[in-house]
Amino acid sequence: MLFGRRKKNPIILRDKGVVEWKYATCGYCSTGCAMEVGLDAAGNAVTTRGVADAPVNLGKLCIKGITEAEILRAPGRGTDPLMRNHSYEQWQTVDWDSALDKTASEFKRVQERYGRDAVAIVSTGQILTEEFYTLGKLARGVIGTNNYDGNTTLCMASAVSGYKRSFGSDGPPGCYDDFSHTECLMAFGSNLPEQHPVIYWRLKEAQEKRKFPVIVVDPRVTMFAQFADIHLPITPGTDLVLLNSLAHVIFAEGLADEDYIAQHCNGGEDLRELVKRYDPATAAKITGIDEDMIRNVARIYARAGAAMSIWTMGINQSTHGSDGVCGINNLNLITGNIGKPGGTSLSITGQCNAMGTREWSSCSGLPGYRALENAEHRKEVGEFWGVDPAFFPEKRGLFMTDIFPAIESGEIKALWLVATNPLTSMPNTTRIRKALEKLEFCVVQDAYADVESAQYANVFFPASVWAEKDGCFTNTERRVNRVTPVTAPLANSKPDLWIFNQLAKRWEQGRTMKFPDTAAQVFEEMRALSPGTGANGEPRILDLSGMDYDKLLSQRGIQWPMREGDETGTARLYTDGVFQFADGKAKLLAMEWRDNNEKPDSDFPFWLNSGRVVEHFHTRTKTGKVGNCNKYSPTAYMEINTDAARELGIEQMEYVRLVSRRGDAVVMAQLTQRVPYNMVFVPFHFFDCVNRVSLGLLDPHSRQPAFKQAAVRLEKVDQLEAARLNRELRAY
Ligand code: SF4
Repeated sequence: MLFGRRKKNPIILRDKGVVEWKYATCGYCSTGCAMEVGLDAAGNAVTTRGVADAPVNLGKLCIKGITEAEILRAPGRGTDPLMRNHSYEQWQTVDWDSALDKTASEFKRVQERYGRDAVAIVSTGQILTEEFYTLGKLARGVIGTNNYDGNTTLCMASAVSGYKRSFGSDGPPGCYDDFSHTECLMAFGSNLPEQHPVIYWRLKEAQEKRKFPVIVVDPRVTMFAQFADIHLPITPGTDLVLLNSLAHVIFAEGLADEDYIAQHCNGGEDLRELVKRYDPATAAKITGIDEDMIRNVARIYARAGAAMSIWTMGINQSTHGSDGVCGINNLNLITGNIGKPGGTSLSITGQCNAMGTREWSSCSGLPGYRALENAEHRKEVGEFWGVDPAFFPEKRGLFMTDIFPAIESGEIKALWLVATNPLTSMPNTTRIRKALEKLEFCVVQDAYADVESAQYANVFFPASVWAEKDGCFTNTERRVNRVTPVTAPLANSKPDLWIFNQLAKRWEQGRTMKFPDTAAQVFEEMRALSPGTGANGEPRILDLSGMDYDKLLSQRGIQWPMREGDETGTARLYTDGVFQFADGKAKLLAMEWRDNNEKPDSDFPFWLNSGRVVEHFHTRTKTGKVGNCNKYSPTAYMEINTDAARELGIEQMEYVRLVSRRGDAVVMAQLTQRVPYNMVFVPFHFFDCVNRVSLGLLDPHSRQPAFKQAAVRLEKVDQLEAARLNRELRAY
């Protein structure tokens, strides 16, 4: 007998005819979920499932992971190399040799005429670590441009910078297992249930087993804020004031871990002196958070046996992003919450392999967290690669966010975009368009030929995507995990590793250096390069020498460091309180808050905030092709407070023009109490939308844009015209 829903509307899971399952790690976010891709009898990838014994996700996947098989054969995939002289011409299909020869000859022409650094490379957080390592070898050792960066500057640069300034090295010190030990978790600018659903599930499960307070700091009443015990609705861009004020209370009330500070930190006195100026009453006026609540939160955090902080873009994408990260590190250092179970500063990374690029791509330096500024490191890598160390620059070049202004000024003439889409992702779209129009040569390498930035390309390299390739990703908790080639590359697309190797052969230097053909061989190079001694005389923390592909598969991913002879990886960094500065001590940094953002005023009375939705990933190059992701999140929208909407005469689902000093965008209004009266929120995934109006002032340390702090006004628009424009845009 059938009852209720089962009788009325049964959910039927169609048998997809899977005959074989192959292992991969999800290619979207940095959670690092292990999955298996199901293949039908014809060898087509038809579905995915979580790996039940994988320590990260224990069988779980979110909507993006569940539907990921669809991206392999999605419309818009690049199938053949393409070329054209000008961006407004029709593409011509060409063979690989023609596309690679053209690119090499254009790079050489530009470099001979304007100098080596006139070619810029902007990479990604999406390709495999072995590919990042090879691209770094090509960029640093063969092409020789110093203007080489990754799009991680848009998401994680402030975390990297903050870790380096506080601990002497990049590398998140904590792990997901910390949720099972913590007695208090504070989340800054992170809507975890939507951004990293499986990490949130780990946290929620730990919290349900062993109740501990969760405090969420966010200007919006996000999904995470709704589930929190305490929500601090902070004024945008004022996190450092809150953090300094928490430190003020902790010092003033004798709640600091003085032994830990004395043994493991420098800078304590300067910090103590500075935070005297950040008493809760003063901080309340700036942050909008009640002064008693600041005291309350400081006490809960400092009195917990173990307390941890997590954060994402709400901290990083700010003019004080790096300082905010150091402020979080300060909080954890003064309470002795680094390197112990449940006590940590854990940045939640964005892209699936943002960590891999930080570790091995040489974007900001040389592989394995080595620095261009360090002569020993230049010598070591030069000898390893067979490159004269004098060929390397002695300091890093331009960040991604400085490369586009350098195109405007004529300093950069050629650009190579690898799996990144600045026309949608960068702030101030109009300015980015103008910059791209000025280029003498642009090559776009992407799995999808319809990626918006390809509008400005002269050459298109069709890359294989995710599980068509072989290699590793590193996730948020430093876990290296395998992606195996589940299906053959589509049509004439090629793995990024192959493309980098073929391009290297177009230079004499590239022919004399070793560019291994397989990912396994590249991994062996990385293993050989990873052991060594850090600035503190201790073994280097980024050490993979104990890993191999078999162990990575059998353990479902391993956290670095794993040194030669180790059986497994290392859950936490700095457990001995020895940091990566020469004297082994962490730095407590005294940082004054500066009021330097664009803010609402009478002409532009709303804060503009932006962020993610659960269904989409970054610029929708992949999720925009997936039926269910589009079904649940089909179009851009703007959250507006119900009271503000009523005063402006804006109705639910009406189109509204969003106007800033940079430009305008038309979006659909969604009336809600999730945003305060003077704020609107727009998802950042959609082309020609929020970044037409965003400002993106840069953090002075990390050069990361302040996407979340700009001022806008709202204007009524003709609804039929707006609907027509919206349809055209979405059909693009
Ligand atoms: Fe993939 Fe992230 Fe979803 Fe896991 S949480 S399935 S890694 S998108």
